[in-house]
Amino acid sequence: DRKKLGKLRKMPAVTRDGVEVALLANIELPEDCGPAMDAGAIGVGLFRSEFLFMGRTGQVNRLPTEDEQFESYRAAVLAMKGRPVTIRTLDIGADKPLDHAEQTALNPALGLRAIRYCLTEPQMFLAQLRAILRASAFGPVKLLIPMLAHAFEIDQSLAMIEQAKAQLREADIKFDPLIQVGAMIEIPAAALTLPMFVKRLDFLSIGTNDLIQYTLAIDRADHEVAHLYDPLHPAVLYLLSHTIAAADKAGVPVAVCGEMAGDTKLTRLLLGMGLREFSMHPAQLLPVKQEVLNSDLSLIAPVARKILRATEPQAIVEAVEQLRAL
Ligand code: PEP
Ligand code: MG
Repeated sequence: DRKKLGKLRKMPAVTRDGVEVALLANIELPEDCGPAMDAGAIGVGLFRSEFLFMGRTGQVNRLPTEDEQFESYRAAVLAMKGRPVTIRTLDIGADKPLDHAEQTALNPALGLRAIRYCLTEPQMFLAQLRAILRASAFGPVKLLIPMLAHAFEIDQSLAMIEQAKAQLREADIKFDPLIQVGAMIEIPAAALTLPMFVKRLDFLSIGTNDLIQYTLAIDRADHEVAHLYDPLHPAVLYLLSHTIAAADKAGVPVAVCGEMAGDTKLTRLLLGMGLREFSMHPAQLLPVKQEVLNSDLSLIAPVARKILRATEPQAIVEAVEQLRAL
Protein backbone atom coordinates (compact mmCIF):
# COMPACT_ATOMS: atom_id res chain seq x y z
CA ASP A 1 0.00 0.00 0.00
CA ARG A 2 2.92 2.37 0.79
CA LYS A 3 4.20 1.63 -2.73
CA LYS A 4 0.91 2.69 -4.26
CA LEU A 5 0.94 5.87 -2.21
CA GLY A 6 4.51 6.54 -3.38
CA LYS A 7 3.30 6.66 -7.00
CA LEU A 8 0.85 9.36 -6.00
CA ARG A 9 3.66 11.75 -5.09
CA LYS A 10 3.88 13.53 -8.39
CA MET A 11 0.23 13.37 -9.39
CA PRO A 12 -1.75 16.59 -8.97
CA ALA A 13 -4.58 16.37 -6.43
CA VAL A 14 -7.70 16.57 -8.60
CA THR A 15 -11.14 15.12 -7.93
CA ARG A 16 -12.76 12.72 -10.41
CA ASP A 17 -14.82 15.58 -11.77
CA GLY A 18 -11.77 17.79 -12.27
CA VAL A 19 -11.70 20.03 -9.19
CA GLU A 20 -8.14 20.92 -8.18
CA VAL A 21 -7.17 20.79 -4.52
CA ALA A 22 -4.00 22.29 -3.03
CA LEU A 23 -2.28 20.00 -0.50
CA LEU A 24 0.43 21.62 1.62
CA ALA A 25 2.51 20.63 4.61
CA ASN A 26 2.56 21.75 8.25
CA ILE A 27 6.14 21.94 9.52
CA GLU A 28 7.76 22.69 12.87
CA LEU A 29 11.41 23.04 11.79
CA PRO A 30 13.14 23.52 8.40
CA GLU A 31 14.24 19.86 8.46
CA ASP A 32 10.57 18.89 8.02
CA CYS A 33 10.71 20.28 4.47
CA GLY A 34 12.42 17.08 3.26
CA PRO A 35 9.48 14.83 4.17
CA ALA A 36 7.10 17.52 2.88
CA MET A 37 8.81 17.58 -0.55
CA ASP A 38 9.04 13.76 -0.57
CA ALA A 39 5.29 13.57 -0.07
CA GLY A 40 4.65 15.99 -2.93
CA ALA A 41 3.51 19.02 -0.92
CA ILE A 42 2.96 22.00 -3.21
CA GLY A 43 4.15 24.28 -0.42
CA VAL A 44 4.24 24.82 3.32
CA GLY A 45 0.83 25.95 4.55
CA LEU A 46 1.94 26.33 8.15
CA PHE A 47 5.46 26.75 9.55
CA ARG A 48 4.94 26.72 13.32
CA SER A 49 7.77 29.15 14.11
CA GLU A 50 7.35 28.76 17.88
CA PHE A 51 9.37 25.53 17.70
CA LEU A 52 12.45 27.69 17.09
CA PHE A 53 11.71 29.42 20.38
CA MET A 54 10.90 26.39 22.54
CA GLY A 55 13.19 24.18 24.56
CA ARG A 56 15.95 26.79 24.92
CA THR A 57 16.07 26.67 28.71
CA GLY A 58 19.69 26.97 29.80
CA GLN A 59 20.90 28.53 26.55
CA VAL A 60 22.63 31.91 26.69
CA ASN A 61 20.00 33.52 24.48
CA ARG A 62 16.56 32.65 25.71
CA LEU A 63 15.09 33.68 22.36
CA PRO A 64 16.55 32.98 18.92
CA THR A 65 18.15 36.11 17.44
CA GLU A 66 16.90 37.74 14.28
CA ASP A 67 19.79 36.18 12.35
CA GLU A 68 19.18 32.69 13.75
CA GLN A 69 15.52 32.98 12.80
CA PHE A 70 16.38 34.30 9.35
CA GLU A 71 18.70 31.31 8.75
CA SER A 72 15.89 28.89 9.67
CA TYR A 73 13.24 30.62 7.58
CA ARG A 74 15.60 30.87 4.61
CA ALA A 75 16.54 27.19 4.99
CA ALA A 76 12.85 26.28 4.69
CA VAL A 77 12.35 28.60 1.70
CA LEU A 78 15.38 27.13 -0.11
CA ALA A 79 14.37 23.54 0.75
CA MET A 80 10.95 24.11 -0.82
CA LYS A 81 12.57 25.11 -4.14
CA GLY A 82 10.23 27.90 -5.19
CA ARG A 83 7.10 26.54 -3.56
CA PRO A 84 5.39 28.96 -1.16
CA VAL A 85 6.25 28.85 2.55
CA THR A 86 3.68 30.23 4.96
CA ILE A 87 5.45 31.29 8.14
CA ARG A 88 3.27 31.78 11.18
CA THR A 89 4.49 34.34 13.69
CA LEU A 90 5.19 33.15 17.21
CA ASP A 91 2.19 31.21 18.56
CA ILE A 92 3.51 30.73 22.05
CA GLY A 93 1.45 29.80 25.12
CA ALA A 94 -0.88 27.10 26.45
CA ASP A 95 0.07 23.79 24.76
CA LYS A 96 3.27 25.42 23.36
CA PRO A 97 4.93 27.29 26.27
CA LEU A 98 8.31 29.00 25.93
CA ASP A 99 9.26 27.37 29.18
CA HIS A 100 7.02 25.05 31.19
CA ALA A 101 8.56 26.24 34.46
CA GLU A 102 7.71 29.85 33.66
CA GLN A 103 4.13 29.30 32.63
CA THR A 104 2.21 31.16 35.35
CA ALA A 105 -0.98 32.22 33.57
CA LEU A 106 -4.11 31.19 35.47
CA ASN A 107 -5.52 29.78 32.25
CA PRO A 108 -2.82 29.68 29.60
CA ALA A 109 -5.21 28.90 26.74
CA LEU A 110 -7.01 32.16 27.50
CA GLY A 111 -3.92 34.11 28.49
CA LEU A 112 -1.30 36.38 27.01
CA ARG A 113 -0.39 34.14 24.10
CA ALA A 114 0.36 34.21 20.36
CA ILE A 115 -0.36 37.59 18.73
CA ARG A 116 -1.44 39.05 22.08
CA TYR A 117 1.97 38.32 23.51
CA CYS A 118 3.79 39.54 20.37
CA LEU A 119 1.99 42.88 20.46
CA THR A 120 3.20 43.42 24.05
CA GLU A 121 6.81 42.62 23.05
CA PRO A 122 7.30 44.90 20.03
CA GLN A 123 11.09 44.54 19.83
CA MET A 124 10.87 40.74 19.81
CA PHE A 125 8.00 40.83 17.30
CA LEU A 126 9.81 43.27 15.00
CA ALA A 127 12.89 41.03 15.03
CA GLN A 128 10.76 38.08 13.94
CA LEU A 129 9.00 40.11 11.25
CA ARG A 130 12.34 41.33 9.88
CA ALA A 131 13.67 37.76 9.84
CA ILE A 132 10.61 36.54 7.92
CA LEU A 133 10.77 39.48 5.50
CA ARG A 134 14.46 38.87 4.87
CA ALA A 135 13.71 35.23 4.00
CA SER A 136 11.15 36.46 1.45
CA ALA A 137 14.03 37.66 -0.74
CA PHE A 138 14.92 33.98 -1.36
CA GLY A 139 11.57 32.60 -2.51
CA PRO A 140 7.83 32.98 -2.03
CA VAL A 141 6.94 33.60 1.62
CA LYS A 142 3.59 34.35 3.21
CA LEU A 143 3.13 35.73 6.69
CA LEU A 144 0.44 34.25 8.95
CA ILE A 145 -0.81 35.82 12.21
CA PRO A 146 -2.19 33.38 14.84
CA MET A 147 -5.00 33.73 17.38
CA LEU A 148 -6.73 36.86 16.17
CA ALA A 149 -9.80 37.79 18.16
CA HIS A 150 -10.03 41.56 17.64
CA ALA A 151 -9.92 43.59 14.42
CA PHE A 152 -7.48 46.01 16.06
CA GLU A 153 -4.97 43.17 16.44
CA ILE A 154 -4.84 43.00 12.65
CA ASP A 155 -4.35 46.76 12.35
CA GLN A 156 -1.55 46.67 14.92
CA SER A 157 0.09 43.67 13.25
CA LEU A 158 -0.07 45.29 9.81
CA ALA A 159 1.45 48.47 11.25
CA MET A 160 4.28 46.46 12.80
CA ILE A 161 4.90 44.71 9.47
CA GLU A 162 5.15 48.12 7.78
CA GLN A 163 7.56 49.24 10.49
CA ALA A 164 9.73 46.15 9.97
CA LYS A 165 9.77 46.82 6.21
CA ALA A 166 10.81 50.43 6.81
CA GLN A 167 13.66 49.28 9.05
CA LEU A 168 14.90 46.90 6.35
CA ARG A 169 14.65 49.56 3.65
CA GLU A 170 16.63 51.89 5.86
CA ALA A 171 19.36 49.24 6.17
CA ASP A 172 19.22 48.46 2.44
CA ILE A 173 18.20 44.83 3.06
CA LYS A 174 16.16 43.00 0.42
CA PHE A 175 12.68 41.58 0.98
CA ASP A 176 9.46 40.99 -0.96
CA PRO A 177 7.54 44.28 -0.60
CA LEU A 178 4.31 42.56 -1.70
CA ILE A 179 4.51 39.74 0.86
CA GLN A 180 1.04 38.38 1.54
CA VAL A 181 -0.31 38.67 5.06
CA GLY A 182 -3.01 36.32 6.36
CA ALA A 183 -4.61 35.35 9.63
CA MET A 184 -5.51 32.17 11.42
CA ILE A 185 -9.22 31.82 12.07
CA GLU A 186 -9.20 29.77 15.24
CA ILE A 187 -11.11 31.84 17.78
CA PRO A 188 -14.91 31.80 17.35
CA ALA A 189 -15.09 35.60 17.73
CA ALA A 190 -12.92 36.01 14.63
CA ALA A 191 -14.98 33.48 12.65
CA LEU A 192 -18.23 35.19 13.61
CA THR A 193 -17.11 38.73 12.77
CA LEU A 194 -15.03 37.97 9.70
CA PRO A 195 -16.80 40.47 7.38
CA MET A 196 -15.62 43.29 9.67
CA PHE A 197 -11.93 42.77 8.91
CA VAL A 198 -11.44 40.13 6.20
CA LYS A 199 -10.75 42.71 3.46
CA ARG A 200 -7.56 43.79 5.23
CA LEU A 201 -6.09 40.30 4.76
CA ASP A 202 -4.67 38.51 1.72
CA PHE A 203 -5.66 35.03 2.89
CA LEU A 204 -7.09 33.05 5.80
CA SER A 205 -6.20 29.73 7.34
CA ILE A 206 -8.65 27.95 9.63
CA GLY A 207 -7.02 26.39 12.68
CA THR A 208 -9.51 23.72 13.61
CA ASN A 209 -7.53 22.51 16.63
CA ASP A 210 -8.07 25.74 18.52
CA LEU A 211 -11.39 26.53 16.87
CA ILE A 212 -12.79 23.31 18.35
CA GLN A 213 -11.11 23.95 21.71
CA TYR A 214 -12.57 27.45 22.05
CA THR A 215 -15.98 26.66 20.57
CA LEU A 216 -16.64 23.65 22.79
CA ALA A 217 -14.66 24.86 25.84
CA ILE A 218 -12.62 21.63 25.67
CA ASP A 219 -8.94 21.89 26.54
CA ARG A 220 -7.31 20.24 23.50
CA ALA A 221 -4.58 18.74 25.73
CA ASP A 222 -6.80 17.44 28.56
CA HIS A 223 -7.35 13.69 28.26
CA GLU A 224 -10.26 13.76 30.67
CA VAL A 225 -12.38 15.69 28.18
CA ALA A 226 -10.89 14.25 24.98
CA HIS A 227 -14.10 12.27 24.36
CA LEU A 228 -15.99 15.56 24.09
CA TYR A 229 -13.56 17.08 21.57
CA ASP A 230 -15.73 16.75 18.48
CA PRO A 231 -14.89 18.14 15.01
CA LEU A 232 -18.42 17.23 13.91
CA HIS A 233 -20.19 19.25 16.60
CA PRO A 234 -22.81 21.33 14.73
CA ALA A 235 -21.34 24.53 16.20
CA VAL A 236 -17.91 23.73 14.75
CA LEU A 237 -19.39 22.97 11.33
CA TYR A 238 -21.45 26.15 11.50
CA LEU A 239 -18.34 28.25 12.18
CA LEU A 240 -16.44 26.51 9.38
CA SER A 241 -19.17 27.09 6.82
CA HIS A 242 -19.72 30.65 8.01
CA THR A 243 -15.98 31.37 7.64
CA ILE A 244 -15.83 29.84 4.15
CA ALA A 245 -18.90 31.79 3.00
CA ALA A 246 -17.65 35.11 4.41
CA ALA A 247 -14.19 34.60 2.88
CA ASP A 248 -15.67 33.66 -0.50
CA LYS A 249 -17.93 36.71 -0.43
CA ALA A 250 -14.92 38.94 0.21
CA GLY A 251 -12.85 37.16 -2.44
CA VAL A 252 -10.21 36.16 0.12
CA PRO A 253 -8.78 32.62 -0.23
CA VAL A 254 -9.28 30.34 2.76
CA ALA A 255 -7.27 27.24 3.71
CA VAL A 256 -7.61 24.80 6.59
CA CYS A 257 -4.53 23.79 8.59
CA GLY A 258 -5.79 22.09 11.76
CA GLU A 259 -5.78 18.32 12.28
CA MET A 260 -9.10 18.07 10.43
CA ALA A 261 -7.22 18.88 7.20
CA GLY A 262 -5.19 15.67 7.47
CA ASP A 263 -8.02 13.38 8.57
CA THR A 264 -9.04 11.28 5.56
CA LYS A 265 -12.38 10.57 7.24
CA LEU A 266 -13.18 14.27 6.90
CA THR A 267 -11.64 15.09 3.49
CA ARG A 268 -14.92 14.76 1.60
CA LEU A 269 -16.82 16.77 4.18
CA LEU A 270 -14.32 19.65 3.89
CA LEU A 271 -14.36 19.45 0.08
CA GLY A 272 -18.15 19.50 0.15
CA MET A 273 -18.09 22.58 2.37
CA GLY A 274 -16.06 24.36 -0.30
CA LEU A 275 -12.48 24.12 0.96
CA ARG A 276 -9.83 23.70 -1.74
CA GLU A 277 -6.63 24.17 0.24
CA PHE A 278 -5.51 21.80 2.99
CA SER A 279 -2.33 21.92 5.04
CA MET A 280 -1.36 18.93 7.17
CA HIS A 281 1.39 16.82 8.69
CA PRO A 282 3.56 15.52 5.80
CA ALA A 283 2.66 11.91 6.66
CA GLN A 284 -0.99 12.63 5.81
CA LEU A 285 -0.36 14.18 2.40
CA LEU A 286 -0.52 11.04 0.29
CA PRO A 287 -3.48 9.41 2.06
CA VAL A 288 -5.43 12.68 1.71
CA LYS A 289 -4.41 12.97 -1.94
CA GLN A 290 -5.69 9.46 -2.55
CA GLU A 291 -9.00 10.45 -0.99
CA VAL A 292 -9.22 13.55 -3.22
CA LEU A 293 -8.49 11.46 -6.33
CA ASN A 294 -11.28 9.05 -5.38
CA SER A 295 -13.83 11.78 -4.74
CA ASP A 296 -16.48 13.24 -7.00
CA LEU A 297 -17.58 16.67 -5.91
CA SER A 298 -20.89 16.49 -7.77
CA LEU A 299 -21.84 13.55 -5.54
CA ILE A 300 -20.41 15.07 -2.38
CA ALA A 301 -21.98 18.53 -2.59
CA PRO A 302 -25.63 17.51 -2.01
CA VAL A 303 -24.70 15.39 1.03
CA ALA A 304 -22.58 18.24 2.43
CA ARG A 305 -25.55 20.58 2.10
CA LYS A 306 -27.66 18.05 4.00
CA ILE A 307 -25.05 18.03 6.78
CA LEU A 308 -25.21 21.80 7.17
CA ARG A 309 -29.01 21.65 7.37
CA ALA A 310 -29.10 18.74 9.82
CA THR A 311 -31.42 19.22 12.75
CA GLU A 312 -29.82 16.65 15.02
CA PRO A 313 -26.20 15.65 15.67
CA GLN A 314 -26.75 11.98 14.77
CA ALA A 315 -27.84 12.97 11.25
CA ILE A 316 -24.45 14.65 10.80
CA VAL A 317 -22.52 11.55 11.85
CA GLU A 318 -24.62 9.40 9.49
CA ALA A 319 -24.20 11.79 6.55
CA VAL A 320 -20.41 11.86 7.06
CA GLU A 321 -20.47 8.04 6.91
CA GLN A 322 -22.56 8.31 3.74
CA LEU A 323 -19.93 10.64 2.22
CA ARG A 324 -17.19 8.14 2.95
CA ALA A 325 -19.14 5.37 1.19
CA LEU A 326 -19.66 7.36 -2.04
C1 PEP B 1 -4.83 24.97 14.95
O1 PEP B 1 -5.08 25.57 16.00
O2 PEP B 1 -5.66 24.28 14.35
C2 PEP B 1 -3.50 25.07 14.33
C3 PEP B 1 -3.28 24.63 13.11
O3 PEP B 1 -2.49 25.60 15.05
P1 PEP B 1 -1.82 24.87 16.32
O4 PEP B 1 -2.25 23.43 16.31
O5 PEP B 1 -0.36 25.07 16.14
O6 PEP B 1 -2.39 25.65 17.47
MG1 MG C 1 -3.84 27.07 16.86
